[in-house]
Amino acid sequence: DTRHGVILYLDSVNVVFDGFKAINNLTLDIGVGELRCIIGPNGAGKTTMMDIITGKTRPSSGTAFFGQNIDLTTLSETQIANAGIGRKFQRPTVFEAHSVFENLELAMKADKRVWPVLGARLRGEQADRIGEVLETVGLSAQFQRTAGLLSHGQKQWLEIGMLLMQEPRLLLLDEPVAGMTDAETERTGELFNSLKGKHSLMVVEHDMDFVAQIAQQGKVTVLCEGSVLAEGTMEQVQNDERVIEVYLGR
Ligand code: ADP
Repeated sequence: DTRHGVILYLDSVNVVFDGFKAINNLTLDIGVGELRCIIGPNGAGKTTMMDIITGKTRPSSGTAFFGQNIDLTTLSETQIANAGIGRKFQRPTVFEAHSVFENLELAMKADKRVWPVLGARLRGEQADRIGEVLETVGLSAQFQRTAGLLSHGQKQWLEIGMLLMQEPRLLLLDEPVAGMTDAETERTGELFNSLKGKHSLMVVEHDMDFVAQIAQQGKVTVLCEGSVLAEGTMEQVQNDERVIEVYLGR
């Protein structure tokens, strides 16, 4: 089985909008536990690729598999989220009027029939899970704080925590450090490095210093005009003539 150890597998994917090929014969795979950085100029197809993975957009042709045999092109967005793919858009979307703890509580995978009693008395294991996630995202000290009062970076970490409550196998993150301070950016890098292995991550990012921090020995994929232009270590792609041309030629 050629897909062994692969969490995400796109093969010859095409997306055509009114005759325009936004995704052009895109083939890409991500290993279980991998942290993959995706870079590329505006219009390269990064958002459209994530839309395909999450079922928001259907490919005109090609295949997209999650794990060994989950065909993403046949599932709804909800089914894909339930299968274990979490997506974080660029802007933070937390429940501003609720506390950090309540935000994580609301994000918890729960049997809807027991939902009304959750707020009243949280079962021990559920509180433990929230505690774990608070620790992971570095917000333990802020658990009672109203989410609306958090810094931009803290809101982003909270939203990542909300995704983690769903126990996703694959996390898609769109420009997670945009608007963050340098200190927040560095902490986010540490967070991602701590998540890889346990989760698989696909991070779309324009901040090259951040990409260098999280890519380390991992792979960076450069998208351009809907296809993979280059793939390799940060050093390899930075020294790739075609990549230099695309970035300097803008
Ligand atoms: P990126 O996220 O890398 O900036 P996108 O995936 O947003 O790139 O866009 C890829 C290309 O597809 C762009 O040229 C964009 O204008 C085009 N595109 C994206 N969505 C649509 C749409 N719904 N209809 C028509 N063209 C689209």
